[in-house]
Amino acid sequence: MTTTASLDKHLFINNEWRPAGSGKTMEVVNPATEEVCASVASADSGDLDAAVDAARAAFVGPWATMSARERGRLVRRMGERLMEKADEISRLETLHNGKPINESRHVEIPAAAECFEYFGGWSDKLMGETIPVKGNHLTYTLREPLGVCAAIVPWNFPLLIAVWKIAPALATGNTIIVKPASQTPLTALALGDIAVDVGLPPGVFNVLTGPGAKLGQAIVEHPGIDKIAFTGDTSTGKGIMRGAADTLKKITLELGGKSPNIVLPDADIEAAVRGATIGIFYGKGEVCAAGSRLLVDKSIKDEFIDKLAARTKKMVAGDPMDPKTRFGALSSKKQMETVLRYIESGRKEGATLVAGGERIDIGTGRGYFVQPTVFADVQPEMTISREEIFGPVLAAIEFADLDEAIARANDTPYGLAAGVWTRDIKKAHYVASKLKAGTVWINTYNVYDTAAPFGGYKASGFGREMSAHALEHYTQIKSVWVDLNM
Ligand code: NAD
Repeated sequence: MTTTASLDKHLFINNEWRPAGSGKTMEVVNPATEEVCASVASADSGDLDAAVDAARAAFVGPWATMSARERGRLVRRMGERLMEKADEISRLETLHNGKPINESRHVEIPAAAECFEYFGGWSDKLMGETIPVKGNHLTYTLREPLGVCAAIVPWNFPLLIAVWKIAPALATGNTIIVKPASQTPLTALALGDIAVDVGLPPGVFNVLTGPGAKLGQAIVEHPGIDKIAFTGDTSTGKGIMRGAADTLKKITLELGGKSPNIVLPDADIEAAVRGATIGIFYGKGEVCAAGSRLLVDKSIKDEFIDKLAARTKKMVAGDPMDPKTRFGALSSKKQMETVLRYIESGRKEGATLVAGGERIDIGTGRGYFVQPTVFADVQPEMTISREEIFGPVLAAIEFADLDEAIARANDTPYGLAAGVWTRDIKKAHYVASKLKAGTVWINTYNVYDTAAPFGGYKASGFGREMSAHALEHYTQIKSVWVDLNM
């Protein structure tokens, strides 16, 4: 098991590293070893005021007067610098999150770099319009930034989900304060060094670490912040919506999911088995879009579940720092306990455990490792079929026909993503049109691209990350009327 010396990190405000005003710190735990791996500053409202002042000064100052092209170049440079430091930063991502280094180094960090590249390219391509209005007027629109944005980020993709917010915010001329999750602050902080390296003006990019609920709420209520971009739990999102009401902040919410992955009887079974395992076990199942409800046609159910169970049993958890590991540690003790509680509820409520189901020891006697787990014979009313587990637990449910599959798929408050496996192209598009979800994958699962929008229907939130649609959430439109009467 790889060990890493403890890191001490301060707050990043106005391009400077500062301890919290109170002097307080918080510990960060490596979930693979249960050891404290870092200590970070614990910000309070005084530190938040300082970050807001710095971000506001940069917004009205150097960031506003810089040309859009130069701003875009700096945003793209953030991505390039991230790739130059990819080895170091992916180690940090694995250290605080427990995901395999292979995923950090070859998926998450490159995706974050690509996001900077993509949005940096938009900076000098955002335009207004001229509008043919009544009367003798020239009427045109300006697309302007919102001001000071705040990103409140969860612990599952600590860097990537932060960058989904940072890149469009900066590219469109806003400044930003990032609050990473308390469990996983290290990679957002690492972007502070990158901001200095590439020459972002002071105050454009700031990172505050601190107690999630307290600092998060102070951010949500702060009158000097114009927009909150939040990813996290649906109940936290509801609180943010209420908290943002008094200051009428703009908000986007990317929330939880309980995504269905539907296998029709004519599917390529081998591909669907692979897709179902990637759909639930990638990122240890700590993925908002995880295909956590497998809906299988009853005529193929037995064969499918046998193959799925066999494949799942081959997935063995290992040291996340080992490049060969494909399944890491759950992100925290709390998360492991939650997952184990759900597994217990599946057993008690009568589902059939066909793979996994236990906490495991990878040979070190430490770490929050849980086996990839599959339950068959799950009934729609069981807890594991209804609630987001946010861990490596798959609930397989059978259906009798297409209508039942669609009805069951949509029978959830959530609507983040869905999958359908079939060789029938007509059926595939029919199902896609009927699913109430922000993303539908046909004969694939868990694929993403910065150019494609991602976000929720229903209780999975509103707003879209990535793609040109994200630009709308970081800009506002001004109509300008000019009297042309001579
Ligand atoms: P969480 O809601 O507990 O925390 C998310 C962030 O909010 C953290 O930074 C946390 O410190 C902060 N926070 C906590 N309480 C707050 C409050 N009262 N006010 C303001 N901020 C507060 O969520 P989590 O456990 O970190 O993440 C898991 C959840 O995130 C799951 O539900 C998952 O589905 C969801 N998620 C959604 C997406 C998506 O794109 N839709 C992506 C990843 C994760």
